[in-house]
Amino acid sequence: MTAPLPNVVVVGGGLAGLAAALELRGRAHVTVLESGSRLGGKVRVSDVGGLPVDEGADAMLRRVPHGVRLAQDAGLGDELVSPAAGQAFLLSRGELRPLPSGTVMGVPADLAALARSEVLSAAGLARVPLDLVRPGPATVEDVSVGELVARRLGREVVERLVDPLLGGVYAGRADLLSLQATLPQLVEPLARNRSLVLAARDARGTPSPGPVFAGLPGGLGRLPQAVAVASGAQVRLRTTVRALIRTPDGWRLVIGSAAEPAYVDADAVVLAVPAAPAARLLRDVAPHAAADLGGIDYASVAIVTLVLAGPPPGEGSGYLVPAVEGLTTKAVTFTSRKWGAYPGDVTVLRASIGRYGEEVDLQRDDAELVELVLEELALVLGPVGPLVDSRVVRWGGGLPQYAVGHLDRVLRIRAAVGQLPGLAVAGAAYDGVGVPAVIRSGREAAAAVLLHNGGHDRDTR
Ligand SMILES: Cc1cc2nc3c(=O)[nH]c(=O)nc-3n(C[C@H](O)[C@H](O)[C@H](O)COP(=O)(O)OP(=O)(O)OC[C@H]3O[C@@H](n4cnc5c(N)ncnc54)[C@H](O)[C@@H]3O)c2cc1C
Repeated sequence: MTAPLPNVVVVGGGLAGLAAALELRGRAHVTVLESGSRLGGKVRVSDVGGLPVDEGADAMLRRVPHGVRLAQDAGLGDELVSPAAGQAFLLSRGELRPLPSGTVMGVPADLAALARSEVLSAAGLARVPLDLVRPGPATVEDVSVGELVARRLGREVVERLVDPLLGGVYAGRADLLSLQATLPQLVEPLARNRSLVLAARDARGTPSPGPVFAGLPGGLGRLPQAVAVASGAQVRLRTTVRALIRTPDGWRLVIGSAAEPAYVDADAVVLAVPAAPAARLLRDVAPHAAADLGGIDYASVAIVTLVLAGPPPGEGSGYLVPAVEGLTTKAVTFTSRKWGAYPGDVTVLRASIGRYGEEVDLQRDDAELVELVLEELALVLGPVGPLVDSRVVRWGGGLPQYAVGHLDRVLRIRAAVGQLPGLAVAGAAYDGVGVPAVIRSGREAAAAVLLHNGGHDRDTR
């Protein structure tokens, strides 16, 4: 006789939770509990000026295959498209300059390309080769990316290259982000190279041919719903899980209001929510993990989408703005040129605002933010086409900050949660904020809870 399938509840309907649900297809009865009114978390699409535009993530790395694989499993594999291979620019010393090729998140591996880009001042550029002659870096302890890069290559490389590139991914500051967690590809090469530039060269290896990113026509925001359908899971929207209780047979989740609580019982639970709600839910069952989760800070960001009349201004796919340039806009993507899927007579452009610690910028109202972005665009690009429509989306607590020591923190959280049979955590708080990384964490969490299912022990509690 075959054993009945376990009941697994996935808390959080972002891509981590949905990837877990899909992984469990056919192996468990799965319910996804999502507090919002739609699935997808930070991956969602909406209409601006009648055109579908991603409000959060719009592209996923192909090199880390979990995103592409999930799209294939959800039946969208044939629809994946690649962005146009346009040149990306960096606003540096008042001018747009091509982003130098051959860097690892801004850490230069090719000094000739760095010089050609003219991103650094003559003094800043002259400082970089000192790295090749000074005693080796051999970093064993985790340090901040900014500290290492400033020590080896000078402060200008941090401010004008690494900070804007890392800031593009984490909305964070290089001086606070962990080398081991945010640039893991450099860790091994650093141990065997005497120079950071040489380590970056090693880490780059031979770049694989073909497009780097993938997206979907109509927006990457289509992916979550397709994954949910493919998983066959029962989805309950507008359902916030408020507490997690261990029972002799598994887990009880508390939903509903404090006045009228309701309960969902499960053999196993995947917690695929950001660090703050995960900490709240783990407070009683895994207090040490909850304390560690409570120490993970988040950066808030806003995406200002503009639809403008006429063809895209400027050239290339967009530009990054280092904080030292003094603008509020952090990055601009020429979305219509990047994806090419919009009518020719309008420009769709996404500007991103909000660096870690600068949340005050996000407190301006929508109209003010749109006005500010338009002013700064004109400053950088000259006059732009008249505004047809706009949309401002604020992502409060959008991106976790992997501070120095993050990997140890995650090891401790996983060790504590691993003591509890039928419980696992997943999502952007742990092993990478990119779409493929959160998908992998969801799939691994699903596999972990299945492995331990049946491990509940009535006698030990
Ligand atoms: C503006 C922006 C742009 C980005 N661009 C890219 C990009 O282009 N490429 C890329 O790879 N990555 C990008 N990222 C990062 C990536 O989108 C996210 O890291 C990833 O989508 C997070 O997925 P997740 O499932 O871990 O969490 P989330 O998407 O945050 O999902 C968690 C879900 O849990 C729900 N939830 C929370 N608490 C509870 C509770 N108590 N009960 C029930 N449900 C709950 C939330 O409502 C949410 O839906 C971007 C992020 C942002 C903010």
